[in-house]
Amino acid sequence: MRTLIKDAYLVTQNASRDIVKGDILIEDGTIAKVGEVKEGSDAVIDASGDVVIPGLINTHTHVAMSVMKGIADDMPFPQFLDTTFAADAKRTDRDIAAGAAQGCLEMIRSGTTTFLDLYYSEDVIAGAVEKSGIRGILGWAVLDEQFTTQKGNPLDNCKRFHRQFKDRPRVYPAVGLQGVYVCSTETFLGAKEYALENNLLQTFHLSETRKEVSDCKRKEGSRPGDYLASIGFLNDHCVAAHSAWLTINEVRHLSRTGTKVSSCPVSNMKLATGGVAPIPEMFQNNVTVSVGTDGSTTNNSLDMFGEMKTLSLLQKASRWDPTVLPAQKVLDLATVDAARAVKMESMIGSIEVGKKADLVILDGKAANLRPMRMGSLVSNIVYSSYGLNVKTVLCDGNVVMQDRAVRTMDEEKVLSEAEDAARELLG
Ligand SMILES: [Zn+2]
Repeated sequence: MRTLIKDAYLVTQNASRDIVKGDILIEDGTIAKVGEVKEGSDAVIDASGDVVIPGLINTHTHVAMSVMKGIADDMPFPQFLDTTFAADAKRTDRDIAAGAAQGCLEMIRSGTTTFLDLYYSEDVIAGAVEKSGIRGILGWAVLDEQFTTQKGNPLDNCKRFHRQFKDRPRVYPAVGLQGVYVCSTETFLGAKEYALENNLLQTFHLSETRKEVSDCKRKEGSRPGDYLASIGFLNDHCVAAHSAWLTINEVRHLSRTGTKVSSCPVSNMKLATGGVAPIPEMFQNNVTVSVGTDGSTTNNSLDMFGEMKTLSLLQKASRWDPTVLPAQKVLDLATVDAARAVKMESMIGSIEVGKKADLVILDGKAANLRPMRMGSLVSNIVYSSYGLNVKTVLCDGNVVMQDRAVRTMDEEKVLSEAEDAARELLG
């Protein structure tokens, strides 16, 4: 099967960050040619005047929480936790499936083709991912047995999920760890051992709040980043979400061990947890940084365009320095750098021959994307665009949405099932 995307501005995100006017030929799910294409094809997508970017990569989500949107807004953090956990404890497979489907739909509509999730019941979430046509790296939540609502031992559940789903298309089982506040040293190291034996990603919350840091100091005698380094947990298959309250010493641990970061600016700002991820210092220490929306009770959106802009503004505003995170680097964090964070850099993250055709076409006629100038295109994508500018999405070479019509899911059904699930779960 050959698909041709014709006559667009291609923001390639290749090593020299070329932007070219031209075509993309896709052969059996893989990008076969970028530039002028003369070969014939089975299907043509006319993208005249439109903008093609690599599919965006959201490196921190709890996608099934989409049906819980709006239940815990504008409240102090302890009350937020109580409200979220109370709803979480009542969840069923049915509302998890409905929430995951709604979340995948929102991601398709806003140009995300790969996401890294952390939750329990990832076997249910995997079903929604498979139907949706996008790519899910699904980290089953592992924590100490005494703190969980899962049936059985969470690490055993995670292992079972991995064994059952490891060969499914576009589903990549991973190991999730809730965080230092509910995971013992034994839990961290057991999870790491299994993950590295099976070449799996590990993702966890790190230093999201000041309380997490002070509690860890009291319990373990050191800050979370120092503690995880001291027990030998950190490794190059790790993606640490938030990483907001870190010292320079902890940043150096991330660097030395190859641990990657998913910064979640909207979540941190909305919960007013205070810390701002020290991204300039992460760059100086060659730590790979990416961007995550976090779950729908803390954001409450999965739109990576909003997340990119907010991340840049937060870093600029907090450092009094507009140069600290430029538009091109922000787009890198959501594409090529994110691909490196999830160890898929040879497969996704840029528009280059040999990579998977994970592609997003933005409507070049949208007023907020104009005027169309090569020189300001990346800036327009990061500072002026919304998810709703996404017109067409391909993942793995398959057309998931074309001209705003979602091809893989029955949108009305997904939305009405999510309404029912929310009503049942939340009353
Ligand atoms: Zn989270």
